[in-house]
Amino acid sequence: MHNIDKIKKEFLKKYRSQKLYSKTVFNFLDLVNQYIDVDNDYHVIEQLIEAENVVEFDVFWENDKGKIVKNKGYRVQHSKLLGPYKGGLRFHPTVNLDILRSLAFEQSLKNAITGLPLGGAKGGSDFDPKHKSDDELRRFCYKYMESLAPYLGHDYDVPAGDIGVSNKLIGYMYDAYRKLKGDDPGVFTGKPISEGGSILRPEATGYGLVYIAESALKHYKNTDFKRKKVLISGSGNVAIHAAYKVCELGGMVVAMSDSSGVIYNNQGLDVSYVDEIKTKDKRIHAYLDKYPQTFFSADSKHIWNFKADIALPSATQNEVQLVDAKKLVDHGIIGIFEGANMPLTKEASDYVIDQGVIFIPGKAANAGGVSVSYFEMVQNKLKQQWTKEDVDKKLKDVMTNIFNNIYKEAERINQKMRLDIASDLVGYKRLRDKILKG
Ligand code: NDP
Repeated sequence: MHNIDKIKKEFLKKYRSQKLYSKTVFNFLDLVNQYIDVDNDYHVIEQLIEAENVVEFDVFWENDKGKIVKNKGYRVQHSKLLGPYKGGLRFHPTVNLDILRSLAFEQSLKNAITGLPLGGAKGGSDFDPKHKSDDELRRFCYKYMESLAPYLGHDYDVPAGDIGVSNKLIGYMYDAYRKLKGDDPGVFTGKPISEGGSILRPEATGYGLVYIAESALKHYKNTDFKRKKVLISGSGNVAIHAAYKVCELGGMVVAMSDSSGVIYNNQGLDVSYVDEIKTKDKRIHAYLDKYPQTFFSADSKHIWNFKADIALPSATQNEVQLVDAKKLVDHGIIGIFEGANMPLTKEASDYVIDQGVIFIPGKAANAGGVSVSYFEMVQNKLKQQWTKEDVDKKLKDVMTNIFNNIYKEAERINQKMRLDIASDLVGYKRLRDKILKG
């Protein structure tokens, strides 16, 4: 049996029921297989695909009606090779260990790609923060922290936000942490600025996504965002800030979505109004209250039917399948840059790359968030507060560096369009070097 099959077989013995995790790891193995010496690296690969530590617990909390509710809580500490475990917390009813293991593995590669001293982790809960009162959110965060706090520390494990976890919730969790373990501002990133958070952390993932897309458009097509029509799925943290940056660079955001539908206007959407309605926790259909002529569909996936130049899928995993990818290509898309984690299925990304579309996977394209999280850790350590201009410049530098590194790697393997393989290889090599050279 070939060694890659042996690794897969051993992996399935333990994780057969964890479908997404297995799929993510196997996609990685299949992509890099041709470019690494699997026989030689057998034990390195074995180590890198498995999480070092998994924390799982029940969270019992009281809602406003006095009822005791039970949720599951998790933290997957995947790799501490390069620095403290680092990765977001996701609060969403779909959260389970399978999703988090898969995201934690990807996060370790992502953090390695940034070149920063950060390990990889992911965590969260199946708690749904939507339509909860502030008191309920606080109570939940406190009980969640009671179980998680013993596993955290500024030089050990430093969570941030992800889907459903805004900087307000990070503030509640840090409050709880302080009560339980004492002051340690470096233990969370994405904190409110008053609690030691970094300027531009909320904007960082979306801005970084547009910065790396800008580099790619320039290198591959000698063009930019000016007058480009852009589809952005989602209307949360990543999507909104990407949308603002696209507009700032002269592009036009023609469609956005949430889990209840999609809005479209060929002449461009009013991004600040989308921001306003989503901040008020309304459904995206509320956009029509002010702009009744806007096209609306209750099918979020309808967003991939529209003609545009660029797509920034920034909602959730597996939201672009092969059938959607084909529609995007038929309509002349030139670049797809992943704001979310793994929004394109492997079939979809293979297809668009084959068709000559520029594609950058989330583990490189959405690394702006974790990079500014790192800046937040440094500011906390130095007891400094950097300016918006400082952070923005550093963010741009990191994203440009990431692009240059993966582009160079793609050229080296003679696969100029395979920025997905190149990203995995850049991350893998850094982790491998750390194991071998310390
Ligand atoms: P948010 O919770 O702020 O926003 C998620 C958005 O996606 C919401 O608008 C939500 O709609 C929408 N959404 C969820 N499911 C669907 C669906 N099936 N179809 C259409 N829209 C949907 O999360 P973030 O913006 O923080 O995260 C988005 C993605 O980016 C995730 O994959 C996350 O892991 C990734 N990411 C985030 C980073 C960050 O810094 N925040 C860093 C790196 C990656 P609704 O309001 O209806 O729920």
